[in-house]
Amino acid sequence: MGLDGLASLVSALHEAGYRVVGPTVRDGAIVLDEIGSAEDLPHGVAIEQEAAAYRLERRDDEAVFGWAVGPHSWKQELMPSRVRLWRASVSGNGHGPTIEEEPPPLKPLAILGARPCDVHAIAIQDRVFLGGPYIERDYAQRRDGAFLVVVNCGVPGGTCFCTSMGTGPRAEEGFDLALTEILDGEHRFVVEAGTERGREILALLPTRQATPEDVGAALLVTHEAARRMGRELDTVRLPELLASNRDNPSFRAVAERCLTCGNCTAVCPTCFCTSVEDVNDLADGSAERWRVWDTCFSVDYSYIHGGSVRRSSMSRYRQWLTHKFGTWVDQFGTSGCVGCGRCITWCPVGIDVTEELAAIRATEGEVERADAR
Ligand code: SF4
Ligand code: SF4
Repeated sequence: MGLDGLASLVSALHEAGYRVVGPTVRDGAIVLDEIGSAEDLPHGVAIEQEAAAYRLERRDDEAVFGWAVGPHSWKQELMPSRVRLWRASVSGNGHGPTIEEEPPPLKPLAILGARPCDVHAIAIQDRVFLGGPYIERDYAQRRDGAFLVVVNCGVPGGTCFCTSMGTGPRAEEGFDLALTEILDGEHRFVVEAGTERGREILALLPTRQATPEDVGAALLVTHEAARRMGRELDTVRLPELLASNRDNPSFRAVAERCLTCGNCTAVCPTCFCTSVEDVNDLADGSAERWRVWDTCFSVDYSYIHGGSVRRSSMSRYRQWLTHKFGTWVDQFGTSGCVGCGRCITWCPVGIDVTEELAAIRATEGEVERADAR
C-alpha cells in the first residue's frame, strides 16, 4: 500500500473504536502520543543517537519510519508511570468506607509503529504481569484487546543491538499487522497480517497484492538494517558469566561513573519495578492508592527492615545488570533485555551495557580486593 494506505489505516483503527497511539515529533524527540491522523506521524525525520546523545535530523526523503526508537516505549501506555489503583471514601452510613477500583480505559489501545524489539518487550512484560499466579489488574485491562501494528526496522539506531538479542530487525510474531517501509523510488509499505483481526483491518485499506519484487525489497530493508546495527553483544553464557563474576572489578569502575539517576530503568521497555503511594484527603476523609514507577537504582527501593540492602551505587548497578541479563532468565525464561539501546542513549554519562558486559567478559575471573568493596 502507499501513503494513502497508511492514512486509511489510522482512520480504520479510529473507526474500529481504538485509541490510536504512535510516534510523533515533540520537544526535539520522537515521542509516543495519540495520533489523530497520519499527518501526526514523523515525516522525513532521522535520529542520530549514540551513548548520551540524541538529535533529530532532516532526511532527504519523506520516510515516516526512517528512525529506530525514541525515549518513550510502549511501557508508558501499558504500565503508565502513575496510575490510581483505587479510591476509598467514607459513606457516612456507619458501614465503613466505600472502595472504588480504577475503571478500565474507555477504549482499547491501538499501538501504531512498535518496533520488533518493542514487540518482544511487550511479550516480556506480558510474562511478568500476566504469566504467573498473580495478574496485574491494571496492566491486564490496558493490554486486553490492544491492536498491534509493528514496523520492521530499516534504519537501526547507533545504540541498537537487537540482532545480538534475537529480537529484530524483523518481527516474526506477536503483531496484528506488520509494515515494512520501502523507499526505492516508489514510497510504499509491504503489509503482513498476523491475526484474523489484522486481516479484517487490512481488508479495509487501499492495497494491491504484493509482487515478488515487493517482498524481496521488504526483505532487503531488514537485511540491510541487520548489517548496519549500531552495537553488538556477545550473549554466550551471559547468565553464568554474571553469576560467577559478582566481585569483578568492572563493577567498581562503572559505579564511579553511575549517577544512580535511574534514567536507564525509566526508558527501558521491560523494567517493571513500581512502588505504591497512599494519598489521604483530611478534608473529606477519602484516600487513594497510586502505583508509580520506581527503580532499583534508588536506595529506598531496597529498604528492608532496618535499612537498604544495596547501599552502594556499585551494588545497585550490579543488581540491575545481573538481573536484566542473568537472573531474569531464571525467573522468566528469557533475557530481560531486547537490545533497544535506550539505556545507552539516555544515560547522562554514556554508560553502555554492551561495553560493560564486554569488560566483565574480558576480565572474567578477576576479583576486586575485599578492602576496595
Ligand atoms: S547507568 Fe546511567 S542512566 Fe542508569 S542510573 Fe547510572 S547514570 Fe543513571
Ligand atoms: S537494558 Fe537497555 S538495551 Fe536492554 S531493553 Fe532495557 S533499555 Fe533496551
